[in-house]
Amino acid sequence: MTLSSRQARRVLLDRLITQDVGQCTFDEPLSEHNSWQIGGPADLLIEPGRADQVAAVARFVNQFRIPLVVIGQGTNLLFDDAGLRGVVLKLGENFSAIRIEDNRITAESGAWVPGLAHKAMQAGLAGLEHTIGIPGTIGGLVLMNGGSQRKGIGENVRRVEVVSREGELLELSREECAFSYRRSALQGTGVVVVRVELECERQEPRQIRRQMLDDLRERRRKFPRKEPNCGSVFLSTSEMHASVGPPGKIIEEAGLKGVRIGDAEVSHRHANFIVNHGNASSADVLALISHIRQVVDSLIGFELCCEVRYVSPEGVIMPAHRAGL
Ligand SMILES: Cc1cc2nc3c(=O)[nH]c(=O)nc-3n(C[C@H](O)[C@H](O)[C@H](O)COP(=O)(O)OP(=O)(O)OC[C@H]3O[C@@H](n4cnc5c(N)ncnc54)[C@H](O)[C@@H]3O)c2cc1C
Repeated sequence: MTLSSRQARRVLLDRLITQDVGQCTFDEPLSEHNSWQIGGPADLLIEPGRADQVAAVARFVNQFRIPLVVIGQGTNLLFDDAGLRGVVLKLGENFSAIRIEDNRITAESGAWVPGLAHKAMQAGLAGLEHTIGIPGTIGGLVLMNGGSQRKGIGENVRRVEVVSREGELLELSREECAFSYRRSALQGTGVVVVRVELECERQEPRQIRRQMLDDLRERRRKFPRKEPNCGSVFLSTSEMHASVGPPGKIIEEAGLKGVRIGDAEVSHRHANFIVNHGNASSADVLALISHIRQVVDSLIGFELCCEVRYVSPEGVIMPAHRAGL
Protein backbone atom coordinates (compact mmCIF):
# COMPACT_ATOMS: atom_id res chain seq x y z
CA MET A 1 0.00 0.00 0.00
CA THR A 2 1.38 3.47 -0.86
CA LEU A 3 0.77 6.57 1.25
CA SER A 4 -0.93 9.67 -0.24
CA SER A 5 1.20 12.84 -0.09
CA ARG A 6 -1.04 14.06 2.75
CA GLN A 7 -0.47 10.87 4.77
CA ALA A 8 3.27 10.99 4.09
CA ARG A 9 3.41 14.61 5.28
CA ARG A 10 1.50 13.66 8.43
CA VAL A 11 4.04 10.90 9.18
CA LEU A 12 6.84 13.48 8.89
CA LEU A 13 5.00 16.05 11.02
CA ASP A 14 4.40 13.38 13.69
CA ARG A 15 8.18 12.96 13.71
CA LEU A 16 8.82 16.72 13.87
CA ILE A 17 6.70 17.17 17.00
CA THR A 18 8.76 14.58 18.91
CA GLN A 19 11.62 17.11 18.76
CA ASP A 20 11.90 20.08 21.16
CA VAL A 21 10.32 22.71 18.87
CA GLY A 22 7.72 24.46 21.05
CA GLN A 23 3.94 24.25 21.37
CA CYS A 24 2.39 22.21 18.51
CA THR A 25 -1.23 22.03 17.30
CA PHE A 26 -2.49 19.93 14.37
CA ASP A 27 -5.24 21.16 12.00
CA GLU A 28 -5.32 24.62 13.56
CA PRO A 29 -7.87 27.05 11.98
CA LEU A 30 -5.83 29.94 10.55
CA SER A 31 -8.86 32.24 10.90
CA GLU A 32 -7.86 32.45 14.58
CA HIS A 33 -4.38 33.73 13.73
CA ASN A 34 -4.96 36.76 11.51
CA SER A 35 -6.79 40.05 11.88
CA TRP A 36 -9.15 39.43 8.90
CA GLN A 37 -10.26 36.22 10.65
CA ILE A 38 -10.12 34.30 7.36
CA GLY A 39 -8.49 31.00 6.42
CA GLY A 40 -8.85 27.23 6.67
CA PRO A 41 -6.74 24.84 8.76
CA ALA A 42 -2.95 24.55 8.78
CA ASP A 43 -1.60 21.00 8.97
CA LEU A 44 0.55 22.03 11.93
CA LEU A 45 1.00 25.26 13.92
CA ILE A 46 4.17 25.59 16.01
CA GLU A 47 4.74 28.33 18.59
CA PRO A 48 8.41 28.24 19.60
CA GLY A 49 9.84 29.95 22.66
CA ARG A 50 13.54 29.91 21.72
CA ALA A 51 15.76 30.55 18.67
CA ASP A 52 17.19 27.00 18.77
CA GLN A 53 13.62 25.65 18.43
CA VAL A 54 13.12 27.89 15.37
CA ALA A 55 16.38 26.51 13.94
CA ALA A 56 15.27 22.90 14.54
CA VAL A 57 12.01 23.53 12.64
CA ALA A 58 13.85 25.27 9.78
CA ARG A 59 16.31 22.37 9.42
CA PHE A 60 13.55 19.73 9.45
CA VAL A 61 11.23 21.39 6.91
CA ASN A 62 14.20 22.20 4.68
CA GLN A 63 15.38 18.58 4.73
CA PHE A 64 11.95 17.15 3.92
CA ARG A 65 10.76 20.02 1.67
CA ILE A 66 7.70 20.79 3.79
CA PRO A 67 6.15 24.24 3.16
CA LEU A 68 6.84 26.67 6.02
CA VAL A 69 5.06 29.97 6.63
CA VAL A 70 6.31 32.31 9.36
CA ILE A 71 3.79 34.60 11.01
CA GLY A 72 3.54 37.10 13.82
CA GLN A 73 0.06 38.47 14.56
CA GLY A 74 -1.17 37.91 10.98
CA THR A 75 -2.14 41.58 10.60
CA ASN A 76 -0.85 41.80 7.05
CA LEU A 77 -1.87 38.36 5.77
CA LEU A 78 -4.72 36.78 3.84
CA PHE A 79 -4.82 32.99 4.27
CA ASP A 80 -6.65 30.81 1.80
CA ASP A 81 -10.01 29.19 2.66
CA ALA A 82 -8.24 25.86 2.03
CA GLY A 83 -5.66 26.66 4.74
CA LEU A 84 -2.07 25.47 4.45
CA ARG A 85 -0.58 22.09 3.58
CA GLY A 86 2.49 22.54 5.72
CA VAL A 87 3.76 24.21 8.90
CA VAL A 88 2.90 27.64 10.29
CA LEU A 89 5.59 28.94 12.64
CA LYS A 90 4.04 31.58 14.85
CA LEU A 91 6.41 33.93 16.67
CA GLY A 92 4.24 35.62 19.25
CA GLU A 93 3.77 35.87 22.98
CA ASN A 94 6.09 32.92 23.77
CA PHE A 95 8.92 34.72 22.00
CA SER A 96 8.59 38.34 22.99
CA ALA A 97 11.20 39.36 25.58
CA ILE A 98 12.35 43.01 25.47
CA ARG A 99 15.56 44.43 26.98
CA ILE A 100 16.54 48.10 27.14
CA GLU A 101 20.11 49.28 27.68
CA ASP A 102 21.14 52.92 27.24
CA ASN A 103 19.56 54.01 23.94
CA ARG A 104 19.26 50.46 22.55
CA ILE A 105 16.29 48.12 22.62
CA THR A 106 16.69 44.40 21.95
CA ALA A 107 13.45 42.58 21.25
CA GLU A 108 12.57 39.01 20.36
CA SER A 109 10.62 38.98 17.13
CA GLY A 110 7.24 38.12 18.69
CA ALA A 111 7.19 41.34 20.77
CA TRP A 112 3.94 43.24 20.14
CA VAL A 113 4.72 46.57 18.46
CA PRO A 114 2.44 48.89 20.52
CA GLY A 115 3.83 47.34 23.76
CA LEU A 116 7.38 47.84 22.52
CA ALA A 117 6.70 51.48 21.56
CA HIS A 118 5.14 52.05 24.97
CA LYS A 119 8.21 50.62 26.76
CA ALA A 120 10.48 52.86 24.64
CA MET A 121 8.40 55.89 25.64
CA GLN A 122 8.64 55.01 29.36
CA ALA A 123 12.44 54.72 29.01
CA GLY A 124 12.58 58.15 27.31
CA LEU A 125 13.59 56.69 23.92
CA ALA A 126 12.17 58.41 20.86
CA GLY A 127 11.85 57.28 17.24
CA LEU A 128 9.15 54.61 17.52
CA GLU A 129 6.19 56.98 18.05
CA HIS A 130 4.87 56.29 14.55
CA THR A 131 4.50 52.57 15.38
CA ILE A 132 2.25 52.94 18.45
CA GLY A 133 -0.94 52.03 16.53
CA ILE A 134 0.45 49.17 14.42
CA PRO A 135 -1.00 45.91 15.79
CA GLY A 136 1.68 43.42 14.57
CA THR A 137 4.94 41.98 15.94
CA ILE A 138 8.38 43.55 15.59
CA GLY A 139 9.49 40.60 13.39
CA GLY A 140 6.66 41.25 10.91
CA LEU A 141 7.25 45.01 11.07
CA VAL A 142 10.96 44.61 10.23
CA LEU A 143 10.24 42.20 7.37
CA MET A 144 7.70 44.66 5.91
CA ASN A 145 9.69 47.77 6.92
CA GLY A 146 6.35 48.92 8.27
CA GLY A 147 5.61 52.26 9.84
CA SER A 148 3.37 55.26 9.46
CA GLN A 149 3.65 58.97 8.57
CA ARG A 150 5.95 57.93 5.67
CA LYS A 151 8.45 56.41 8.12
CA GLY A 152 9.70 52.82 8.34
CA ILE A 153 11.06 50.81 11.29
CA GLY A 154 14.27 50.28 9.27
CA GLU A 155 15.35 53.82 10.26
CA ASN A 156 15.80 52.57 13.85
CA VAL A 157 17.17 49.08 13.16
CA ARG A 158 20.80 48.51 14.16
CA ARG A 159 20.98 44.78 13.52
CA VAL A 160 18.72 41.80 13.01
CA GLU A 161 19.29 38.16 13.98
CA VAL A 162 17.74 35.62 11.63
CA VAL A 163 17.57 31.85 11.25
CA SER A 164 18.32 30.81 7.67
CA ARG A 165 16.40 28.12 5.72
CA GLU A 166 19.21 25.72 6.66
CA GLY A 167 18.77 26.51 10.37
CA GLU A 168 21.87 28.71 10.84
CA LEU A 169 21.75 31.75 13.13
CA LEU A 170 23.00 34.82 11.22
CA GLU A 171 23.40 38.48 12.09
CA LEU A 172 22.55 41.21 9.58
CA SER A 173 23.35 44.92 9.76
CA ARG A 174 20.83 47.61 8.79
CA GLU A 175 22.70 48.04 5.48
CA GLU A 176 22.39 44.32 4.71
CA CYS A 177 18.62 44.51 5.31
CA ALA A 178 18.44 47.16 2.51
CA PHE A 179 15.26 48.83 3.77
CA SER A 180 13.16 50.89 1.38
CA TYR A 181 9.49 51.88 1.30
CA ARG A 182 7.65 48.83 2.82
CA ARG A 183 10.45 46.61 1.53
CA SER A 184 13.48 44.82 2.98
CA ALA A 185 16.02 42.44 1.54
CA LEU A 186 14.64 39.81 3.94
CA GLN A 187 11.39 39.45 1.96
CA GLY A 188 11.18 36.28 -0.12
CA THR A 189 14.38 34.78 1.33
CA GLY A 190 12.66 32.39 3.76
CA VAL A 191 14.72 33.61 6.75
CA VAL A 192 13.04 33.83 10.15
CA VAL A 193 13.66 37.02 12.10
CA VAL A 194 14.34 36.02 15.72
CA ARG A 195 15.78 39.15 17.34
CA VAL A 196 15.95 42.85 16.50
CA GLU A 197 18.18 45.56 17.93
CA LEU A 198 16.84 49.10 17.65
CA GLU A 199 18.62 52.39 18.26
CA CYS A 200 16.69 55.42 19.52
CA GLU A 201 17.22 59.05 20.50
CA ARG A 202 16.78 60.33 24.06
CA GLN A 203 13.74 62.53 24.67
CA GLU A 204 11.41 63.57 27.48
CA PRO A 205 8.80 60.72 27.94
CA ARG A 206 5.99 63.30 28.20
CA GLN A 207 6.84 64.69 24.78
CA ILE A 208 6.98 61.18 23.24
CA ARG A 209 3.65 60.30 24.88
CA ARG A 210 1.98 63.41 23.46
CA GLN A 211 3.11 62.44 19.96
CA MET A 212 1.79 58.89 20.43
CA LEU A 213 -1.60 60.08 21.70
CA ASP A 214 -1.95 62.38 18.67
CA ASP A 215 -1.16 59.45 16.37
CA LEU A 216 -3.67 57.14 18.10
CA ARG A 217 -6.40 59.84 18.03
CA GLU A 218 -5.86 60.32 14.29
CA ARG A 219 -6.06 56.55 13.65
CA ARG A 220 -9.26 56.21 15.67
CA ARG A 221 -10.79 59.01 13.64
CA LYS A 222 -9.81 57.60 10.23
CA PHE A 223 -9.69 53.79 10.44
CA PRO A 224 -12.49 51.22 10.83
CA ARG A 225 -12.56 50.07 14.43
CA LYS A 226 -15.11 47.30 14.83
CA GLU A 227 -14.96 45.03 11.78
CA PRO A 228 -12.00 42.65 11.25
CA ASN A 229 -9.55 44.07 8.69
CA CYS A 230 -5.91 43.92 7.67
CA GLY A 231 -4.96 47.60 7.68
CA SER A 232 -4.19 49.28 4.34
CA VAL A 233 -4.79 46.87 1.47
CA PHE A 234 -2.94 48.82 -1.24
CA LEU A 235 0.55 50.30 -1.16
CA SER A 236 0.92 54.04 -1.03
CA THR A 237 4.31 55.04 -2.44
CA SER A 238 5.57 58.63 -2.59
CA GLU A 239 5.64 58.51 -6.44
CA MET A 240 1.99 57.49 -6.36
CA HIS A 241 1.14 60.32 -3.93
CA ALA A 242 2.80 62.80 -6.26
CA SER A 243 1.10 61.53 -9.45
CA VAL A 244 -2.42 60.35 -8.48
CA GLY A 245 -2.76 60.68 -4.66
CA PRO A 246 -3.12 58.07 -1.88
CA PRO A 247 -5.03 54.82 -2.61
CA GLY A 248 -7.86 55.60 -0.14
CA LYS A 249 -8.64 58.84 -2.00
CA ILE A 250 -8.44 57.21 -5.44
CA ILE A 251 -10.72 54.32 -4.44
CA GLU A 252 -13.21 56.68 -2.78
CA GLU A 253 -13.28 58.95 -5.86
CA ALA A 254 -13.90 55.87 -8.02
CA GLY A 255 -17.16 55.45 -6.05
CA LEU A 256 -16.10 52.14 -4.51
CA LYS A 257 -16.75 52.83 -0.81
CA GLY A 258 -19.29 50.29 0.43
CA VAL A 259 -18.91 47.95 -2.58
CA ARG A 260 -19.33 44.42 -1.29
CA ILE A 261 -18.57 40.90 -2.51
CA GLY A 262 -19.92 38.23 -0.16
CA ASP A 263 -19.05 39.44 3.33
CA ALA A 264 -16.02 41.50 2.20
CA GLU A 265 -16.66 45.23 1.85
CA VAL A 266 -14.69 48.37 1.00
CA SER A 267 -14.87 50.22 4.33
CA HIS A 268 -17.20 53.23 4.56
CA ARG A 269 -14.69 54.88 6.93
CA HIS A 270 -11.53 54.48 4.83
CA ALA A 271 -11.55 53.19 1.26
CA ASN A 272 -8.09 51.57 1.50
CA PHE A 273 -9.50 49.10 4.06
CA ILE A 274 -11.50 45.95 3.28
CA VAL A 275 -13.59 44.78 6.23
CA ASN A 276 -14.99 41.33 7.00
CA HIS A 277 -18.66 41.44 7.96
CA GLY A 278 -18.47 37.98 9.52
CA ASN A 279 -18.12 35.23 6.96
CA ALA A 280 -15.91 36.71 4.25
CA SER A 281 -13.85 34.10 2.42
CA SER A 282 -10.40 34.59 0.90
CA ALA A 283 -12.13 34.29 -2.49
CA ASP A 284 -14.44 37.23 -1.59
CA VAL A 285 -11.46 39.41 -0.60
CA LEU A 286 -9.43 38.49 -3.70
CA ALA A 287 -12.43 39.15 -5.98
CA LEU A 288 -12.96 42.56 -4.33
CA ILE A 289 -9.25 43.44 -4.69
CA SER A 290 -9.41 42.48 -8.36
CA HIS A 291 -12.59 44.55 -8.90
CA ILE A 292 -11.07 47.65 -7.22
CA ARG A 293 -7.94 47.35 -9.38
CA GLN A 294 -9.94 46.98 -12.59
CA VAL A 295 -12.18 49.99 -11.86
CA VAL A 296 -9.23 52.22 -10.85
CA ASP A 297 -7.20 51.12 -13.87
CA SER A 298 -10.08 51.80 -16.27
CA LEU A 299 -10.82 55.22 -14.71
CA ILE A 300 -7.34 56.68 -14.23
CA GLY A 301 -4.98 54.18 -15.88
CA PHE A 302 -3.16 53.39 -12.63
CA GLU A 303 -2.31 49.88 -11.39
CA LEU A 304 -2.77 49.56 -7.64
CA CYS A 305 -0.41 47.09 -5.90
CA CYS A 306 -1.17 45.31 -2.64
CA GLU A 307 0.67 45.79 0.64
CA VAL A 308 -1.31 42.84 2.06
CA ARG A 309 0.20 39.40 1.43
CA TYR A 310 -1.76 36.31 0.32
CA VAL A 311 -0.60 32.86 1.49
CA SER A 312 -1.43 30.01 -0.91
CA PRO A 313 -2.29 26.49 0.40
CA GLU A 314 1.18 25.45 -0.84
CA GLY A 315 2.80 28.09 1.39
CA VAL A 316 3.75 30.65 -1.26
CA ILE A 317 3.50 34.24 0.04
CA MET A 318 2.84 37.01 -2.48
CA PRO A 319 1.29 40.49 -2.70
CA ALA A 320 -2.46 39.70 -2.73
CA HIS A 321 -3.08 41.21 -6.22
CA ARG A 322 -0.80 38.51 -7.68
CA ALA A 323 -2.90 35.63 -6.31
CA GLY A 324 -4.46 33.62 -9.10
CA LEU A 325 -2.37 35.29 -11.82
C1 LIG B 1 -5.73 47.98 11.92
C2 LIG B 1 -4.39 47.82 11.25
C3 LIG B 1 -3.57 48.92 11.08
C4 LIG B 1 -2.31 48.78 10.47
N1 LIG B 1 -1.54 49.88 10.31
C5 LIG B 1 -0.32 49.76 9.73
C6 LIG B 1 0.52 50.92 9.56
O1 LIG B 1 0.19 52.03 9.95
N2 LIG B 1 1.72 50.73 8.96
C7 LIG B 1 2.15 49.50 8.54
O2 LIG B 1 3.28 49.40 8.02
N3 LIG B 1 1.38 48.40 8.68
C8 LIG B 1 0.16 48.51 9.26
N4 LIG B 1 -0.63 47.39 9.40
C9 LIG B 1 -0.16 46.09 8.85
C10 LIG B 1 0.61 45.23 9.84
O3 LIG B 1 0.20 45.50 11.18
C11 LIG B 1 2.12 45.39 9.75
O4 LIG B 1 2.59 45.08 8.47
C12 LIG B 1 2.80 44.51 10.79
O5 LIG B 1 4.11 44.88 10.96
C13 LIG B 1 2.78 43.03 10.46
O6 LIG B 1 3.19 42.32 11.62
P1 LIG B 1 2.60 40.87 11.91
O7 LIG B 1 3.31 40.34 13.09
O8 LIG B 1 1.13 40.91 12.01
O9 LIG B 1 3.06 40.12 10.59
P2 LIG B 1 2.24 39.03 9.74
O10 LIG B 1 1.02 39.66 9.16
O11 LIG B 1 2.06 37.84 10.61
O12 LIG B 1 3.29 38.75 8.61
C14 LIG B 1 3.59 39.76 7.65
C15 LIG B 1 4.77 39.27 6.81
O13 LIG B 1 5.92 39.17 7.64
C16 LIG B 1 6.41 37.82 7.68
N5 LIG B 1 6.86 37.60 9.06
C17 LIG B 1 6.20 37.83 10.20
N6 LIG B 1 6.99 37.59 11.25
C18 LIG B 1 8.18 37.19 10.76
C19 LIG B 1 9.41 36.78 11.34
N7 LIG B 1 9.59 36.74 12.65
N8 LIG B 1 10.42 36.41 10.52
C20 LIG B 1 10.27 36.42 9.17
N9 LIG B 1 9.14 36.80 8.57
C21 LIG B 1 8.10 37.19 9.35
C22 LIG B 1 5.24 36.96 7.23
O14 LIG B 1 5.70 35.74 6.63
C23 LIG B 1 4.56 37.87 6.21
O15 LIG B 1 5.21 37.82 4.98
C24 LIG B 1 -1.88 47.50 10.03
C25 LIG B 1 -2.71 46.38 10.21
C26 LIG B 1 -3.95 46.53 10.83
C27 LIG B 1 -4.82 45.32 11.03
